[in-house]
Amino acid sequence: MTRDPRYDILFEPVKIGPVTTRNRFYQVPHCTGMGWLRPRSLAEMRGVKAEGGWGVVNTEYCSIHPSSDDLPHPSASLWDDSDIRAHRLMTDKVHAHGSLAGAELWYGGIRTPNLNTREVPMDLESFPNSSGHPFQTRRMDKTDIRTFRHWHRKAALRAKEAGFDIVYVYATHGYLISNFLNPVMNTRGDEYGGSLENRTRLVRELIEETKDAVGDTCAVAVRFSADEKIGADGVPILGERREMFEMLSDLPDLWDINIADYSLEMGVSRFVNEAPLEPYMQWVKSVTDKPVVTVGRFTSPDTMVSQVRRGITDLIGAARPSIADPFLPAKIEAGELDAIRECIGCNVCYSGDTIGVPIRCTQNPTMGEEWRKGWHPERVASRGSDTTVLVVGAGPAGLEAARTLGKRGYQVTLAEANRELGGRVTSESTLPGMSEYARVRNYRQQQLHEMASVQVFRESRLSAEDVMAVQADHVVIATGASWRCDRFDGDSYVSVAPKGVTLLTPDDIMAGKLPDGPTLVYDEDSYYMGGVIAERVLQAGVPVTLVTPSDSVSAWAGMTSERWRVRSHLMKLGVALELSHSLTSFDGETARLTCEYSGVEKAVQVSSVVMVTQRRPNDALYQTLLDSVNGHVGDLPFTLARIGDCEAPSIIAAATYAGHRYAQELDNPVDPDQPLKHDRIDVGQSRMPG
Ligand code: ADP
Ligand code: SF4
Repeated sequence: MTRDPRYDILFEPVKIGPVTTRNRFYQVPHCTGMGWLRPRSLAEMRGVKAEGGWGVVNTEYCSIHPSSDDLPHPSASLWDDSDIRAHRLMTDKVHAHGSLAGAELWYGGIRTPNLNTREVPMDLESFPNSSGHPFQTRRMDKTDIRTFRHWHRKAALRAKEAGFDIVYVYATHGYLISNFLNPVMNTRGDEYGGSLENRTRLVRELIEETKDAVGDTCAVAVRFSADEKIGADGVPILGERREMFEMLSDLPDLWDINIADYSLEMGVSRFVNEAPLEPYMQWVKSVTDKPVVTVGRFTSPDTMVSQVRRGITDLIGAARPSIADPFLPAKIEAGELDAIRECIGCNVCYSGDTIGVPIRCTQNPTMGEEWRKGWHPERVASRGSDTTVLVVGAGPAGLEAARTLGKRGYQVTLAEANRELGGRVTSESTLPGMSEYARVRNYRQQQLHEMASVQVFRESRLSAEDVMAVQADHVVIATGASWRCDRFDGDSYVSVAPKGVTLLTPDDIMAGKLPDGPTLVYDEDSYYMGGVIAERVLQAGVPVTLVTPSDSVSAWAGMTSERWRVRSHLMKLGVALELSHSLTSFDGETARLTCEYSGVEKAVQVSSVVMVTQRRPNDALYQTLLDSVNGHVGDLPFTLARIGDCEAPSIIAAATYAGHRYAQELDNPVDPDQPLKHDRIDVGQSRMPG
């Protein structure tokens, strides 16, 4: 297939100062949980993006000095010459595919506690750390400002030496430079505070100094917010932004525009749709002749074309769409739109940086594994034998296993008990705000549809005898998990209701079994399920109380940036919240709760309780097959494995990963003692002196 001429505009080159990008696909800076800690993994991953057609590939936030340190969240760094060598790994890989590499120079200020380096962070004032650490910044005096500019210049020079083509002045997201622009925060009485001209002075100086330092070969980009904040009514408050922008408009070579509210800019699909920045972008292109890039979780080429044609943006900025599908541009180019693996907007990718571990993606199981496992999002080794595989269960794990096995060329039989494929994503996507999760199924279903080597059998719940009858050489059980109606008290699973009292689970709610009176949703899972179930039950017209032993609602959703939105959303809907309480018992009329701190009990009158606690692996089929040979798996006429939630219940990303891993490793055994390459600082052969 070839490219649809409608999309030609996306493949036009764009001049950015002294450099030219081959097309309009622009991977904006995005965190990876790798940063300076894992340079080889990072370089390989960024290189795959360039291979997949992204004309520009940027780093994550890249610290210019040890006094801007975000560990345990791993940023990149340009502190010294060894950083230059590490970044070269990336720029070489990006250049090898004809793309441009960009470095986002960054100084954290109020947001960085410097836990690793123990340097004193600097900002406009002695502000409290905005990430919640009990430290404050030092007020920058004029010498500090001069020193800071010097560091920025030195980092820009290092970026150039590392081979970068674009160097950023990062003036948004609440980091130091954006605070200078902020009329409320910047109350300095010197030439860097007060008037608009004074507050924009530092950005102007940095742009000019960066151009002076590296502008002969590198473009200078500015990352800038189009608004000051979002109003209570949801309407953006522009404040002085337009004026500010007009003052600087033609200084840099590229404007990378985003907005003040990060939870909207990279909002989860539960709350935010594609192209949410469009209302903010209306005026931007009219006040600059320089190219503009912005993001919007763009996965549809039609939306992209429309953004360019209507003058919203020149370049299609993407972080998440490029993570879910590093080959998105190449697929548009080849006219293979059905093969695009669309981001589902779950922000599991972001959790890597939040937790301080390498990035992972729900849709793209190869993300983060390019170097250490040698996985590629589009290529996989051909089959290692002419054997046949039976996959039982077509949830995310089974679907991904079947897809990748089929791609390798194995003859695959995929059996699913239900009429619909997709398992948990099919059920969960019916819950409020969760519809995009169905993309996990849709992409794989579409791929399977085109694979003659994979036969799909729906409405086929297999027993152990059925499995034997298929006579496959390999059997992989991906039968998922079911929500439990008891709870884990820290030592064991305990029941909270006497026999005869019904407790509901998310599986019941998703199957349409809704309560008809006041309901308590008990959330021990701590991710999204408690909140979406509370919302679903509320839609049935009954009062809902969400109870959790945690101190916060949907605590783990803090890793994916949605915790705050979840809680305010539930509050707006009218869901009553009871934190720090565990559910002790329910007799059909009264639920007893115990305070996690004081042990004091309280009673809540409800007619139903939905337990969102833990899940039980659906591994009966696996166990029956094992039992048939008294646990001697080698006596079975096939190899036997279990994957995904059936092996160990987890998030959806773990299921797609498990399915992919099974398929990668079939006839391609991995040394269990060394299942992956270890990306770390290698001290070589030398021994440290005593
Ligand atoms: P995972 O997240 O691990 O992929 P899911 O729960 O999403 O797990 O999917 C498991 C799938 O397996 C469901 O679609 C379920 O209908 C299917 N299934 C469960 N038991 C059987 C069985 N015995 N035969 C065929 N399909 C099964
Ligand atoms: Fe999109 Fe989720 Fe993958 Fe992130 S983890 S890129 S949000 S599908």
